[in-house]
Amino acid sequence: MNAPPERDFARRVLAWYRRAGRKDLPWQRAPTPYRVWISEIMLQQTRVATVIPYYLRFLERFPDVRALAAASLDEVLHHWSGLGYYARGRNLHRAARIVCERHGGGFPADLESVEALPGVGRSTAGAILALSAGRRHPILDGNVKRVLARCFAVDGWPGRPAVARRLWELAGTCTPRRDVAAYTQAIMDLGATLCTRTRPDCDACPLAEGCAACSLGRQAEFPGPRPRRALPERNTRMLLIRDDADAVLLVRRPPTGIWGGLWGFPEVPGDRDAVQWCREHLGVEIGTPQPWPALTHTFTHFRLHILPLYARARPAAAAIMEAEGALWYNTCDPPAGGLAAPVRRLLARLHDAIQGGGDGPHGALRETG
Ligand code: SF4
Repeated sequence: MNAPPERDFARRVLAWYRRAGRKDLPWQRAPTPYRVWISEIMLQQTRVATVIPYYLRFLERFPDVRALAAASLDEVLHHWSGLGYYARGRNLHRAARIVCERHGGGFPADLESVEALPGVGRSTAGAILALSAGRRHPILDGNVKRVLARCFAVDGWPGRPAVARRLWELAGTCTPRRDVAAYTQAIMDLGATLCTRTRPDCDACPLAEGCAACSLGRQAEFPGPRPRRALPERNTRMLLIRDDADAVLLVRRPPTGIWGGLWGFPEVPGDRDAVQWCREHLGVEIGTPQPWPALTHTFTHFRLHILPLYARARPAAAAIMEAEGALWYNTCDPPAGGLAAPVRRLLARLHDAIQGGGDGPHGALRETG
């Protein structure tokens, strides 16, 4: 095996980037800290192709940090709807307000202040400053971890502190003194396009000569996997209440916890009778609920089994319920707020049922997700 390419790592990565890297992504044009920050947060857990249309819409509506801080959380989440991991949208909004209150609306330029913003970790803070201002800060996102772990044969799961320490050390020594912005983009790109999780394209990789995993044929072993553990299971019952005008009742979820601040269906506590709970807590009289096929939503830390309970509201319910934190939603007309993915799916299916003129779960409603 050749020596690790630590010494001319950056030179090779940059040469490859000049030849083959992506240089025309929307956030690469006029890369201000604000624009880079939004892109970096959106790109966490989400692919470039998915992010681009969301990014363009977001920037059009919130062109700078002041516009974002001045908007309501509801509107921000509405623009986030469909991207998932809604804590990212909530944190962006909080962070924008902090930037306005503590930094006079100017994005902070030192690593410590950027890292102190909600939702911004060490790697994201480094990327924002490196990409927008060419400041020399190493980054270590998932793609970069993979490249470094493979190149230098770093054993173990990067979530373990000792492994993370070693990877940060390597990220620091590999980051060049000049061309930091281009290098940062290049190393992320290389991880995303060549050194992919499955089937890395080592033949096209500028680091192949000297890459430990490649020369040993052990690419699949790096980085080490997260230790396996069974995901906990949780259950909930969601009430799909439809009124005489074919509108459906949605309530705003508490600001923290899963889907915090988004609109969703009322959830009946496990031990309660749905009709009685509805009367006491929502002030709505409903007929006997009818269970619809269950669906499952998997979060990173647990699995949620959702049993939808469909019920007709007794007349005049709508008048009682139009209050803050609740709305009657017309399934043909999207509300101006964020909706979690399973709520969106159930609304689409309710829409089908309503259009089909019945009370049952028609067509796609029969599938369990
Ligand atoms: S040679 Fe292969 S395994 Fe090594 S960094 Fe390049 S793509 Fe990844």
